[in-house]
Amino acid sequence: MLPRYLKNFDTAKLRKEESDFLVIGTGIAGLVTALNLAKSGKVTLLSKERLAECNTEYAQGGIAAVIAKEDTPQSHYQDTLEAGAGLCNPKAVDILVNEGSKRIKELIDLGVNFDRKGEQILLTKEAAHSCRRILHAGGDATGREIRKSLVEQVASEDNVTLEDGIFAVDLLTDNQEVHGILAYDRRQEEYLLYLSKVVVLATGGAGQIYHATSNPSVATGDGIALAYRAGAKVTDLEFVQFHPTTLELEGVDNFLISEAVRGEGGVLRNQAGDRFMTRYHQLADLAPRDIVARAIYQEMKVSGADHVYLDVTALDSAFIKKRFPTIYRTCLDHGIDISQDYIPVAPAAHYLMGGILSNLHGETNIKGLFACGETACIGIHGANRLASNSLLDGLVFGKRVADRATTYLNQGDFSKGISLKYEAQSTIEDIGKIPSKERVKGLMSAKLGIVRERTELEKGLAEADNLLAYLNYDLSNVHDFELQNLITLAHLSFKGALYREESRGAHYRKDFPVVETAWEKHIILQKDREWEELAIEFE
Ligand SMILES: Cc1cc2nc3c(=O)[nH]c(=O)nc-3n(C[C@H](O)[C@H](O)[C@H](O)COP(=O)(O)OP(=O)(O)OC[C@H]3O[C@@H](n4cnc5c(N)ncnc54)[C@H](O)[C@@H]3O)c2cc1C
Repeated sequence: MLPRYLKNFDTAKLRKEESDFLVIGTGIAGLVTALNLAKSGKVTLLSKERLAECNTEYAQGGIAAVIAKEDTPQSHYQDTLEAGAGLCNPKAVDILVNEGSKRIKELIDLGVNFDRKGEQILLTKEAAHSCRRILHAGGDATGREIRKSLVEQVASEDNVTLEDGIFAVDLLTDNQEVHGILAYDRRQEEYLLYLSKVVVLATGGAGQIYHATSNPSVATGDGIALAYRAGAKVTDLEFVQFHPTTLELEGVDNFLISEAVRGEGGVLRNQAGDRFMTRYHQLADLAPRDIVARAIYQEMKVSGADHVYLDVTALDSAFIKKRFPTIYRTCLDHGIDISQDYIPVAPAAHYLMGGILSNLHGETNIKGLFACGETACIGIHGANRLASNSLLDGLVFGKRVADRATTYLNQGDFSKGISLKYEAQSTIEDIGKIPSKERVKGLMSAKLGIVRERTELEKGLAEADNLLAYLNYDLSNVHDFELQNLITLAHLSFKGALYREESRGAHYRKDFPVVETAWEKHIILQKDREWEELAIEFE
């Protein structure tokens, strides 16, 4: 049995902070939401680590938007739906591609310096986009540049209180209505309550559930797990995007080598030096990510090596250094001069398409609870995200969440505050050895990787279910809470992957290798309920 809360607590005994809006997460989604809420009331914006530690900071390639004369929203819409392999919500995609360019102009007004040649914004091409539509900044430091401008702006707002080092443990709810969160202050080493009628989860992804990931250490899927414990619906968790090209060196984190590198002419080669992608797809090196990742997986299996190579040596050396300064420098730090040497690369977990089921305004099935960015599933990315659409997702839907949350608060139709004493966890101190995060990562990497099959998924689910027992102990540090969230997410992801008896987008089942029309639907999971299916449109 999954507990409702990870921690025993008594609201009467805890320090309380109150605000009109509570936003959790300081990546693009949380920052945009907070910025847009600032005109409507007092906003508290939290992050569990230092502010910069988030997926947004590490985004390299860029942000997709229709700004070129020869481009159209219809074309961006079509590319997104195609990549999503039948599971995108067309209404959400329509909003994304039509509102995107306006939001980009606002970013420029805020001071984001997208790379230009003269006055002209430079655009690059990435896989499965039918034209050049990716804006980038600082060469390959797009996320950092956007985040920097947004943080500066948010910090200058009197109405926003920005706090780092605050870990959201659980949502406080009563009768499916949110009242705030139970949090842990890492500096003060104390639990406290943040009370608010509106809680926005912008807590990012969950790449840390795998050994090999491009995501930083904060990406432990907390938002999805805590929302699920509170009764929120979660969906599409079987769809994990593995980025085809991350640096593969022993003892080195899987640093991302952006797809834009292939967009600018980089090519993949196997151990024999052959350009193998031409054998797998007509778009060769710029085929959709799931196809490139599986092709690399296959080539690695055949050769027995743990990597293939990315070759950019045909590109002009000065261009490489200017266009990809971070990638160039990082590889050089590891002894690889990419203008002369092949880069050893392998796929790694990169983006979670699924998340907290949210409508076109980020509303969830819990009153007052909103979600946006990577932690949410609004249906934009379907079974496979189109490159550079996720920064745009946070930008567009962060604003929409703020608009709807303002309306919600103004309606003023709330029950009174919450008073709650929760004691369900066992306080037995000796529970044996607590499993490490590595154990969950190992389980997911071995049994829920790029290629899946029933027997392994069943074994994986059984082990994840065993690990769920650790959620019933009163553990009390951030590492343990993250572990408990990872276990929850592993359990849910195995369920989704086992149910979905087909191959679609990023979900590839060796035992069901083709797309099944009957599976053109989403798997929605909710605590204490069996799973249900839903038609293609969420709203
Ligand atoms: C290496 C890399 C490169 C990428 N490149 C691109 C790209 O070029 N283009 C593109 O569109 N996308 C790219 N992506 C994906 C994109 O960066 C993310 O999907 C997007 O930035 C997610 O934004 P977010 O605001 O939802 O979450 P994040 O930016 O991850 O922010 C999550 C926030 O939530 C906080 N948080 C989490 N849990 C808790 C908790 N329990 N309590 C308190 N706070 C919590 C974290 O501290 C953090 O502040 C890339 C991702 C990576 C990792």
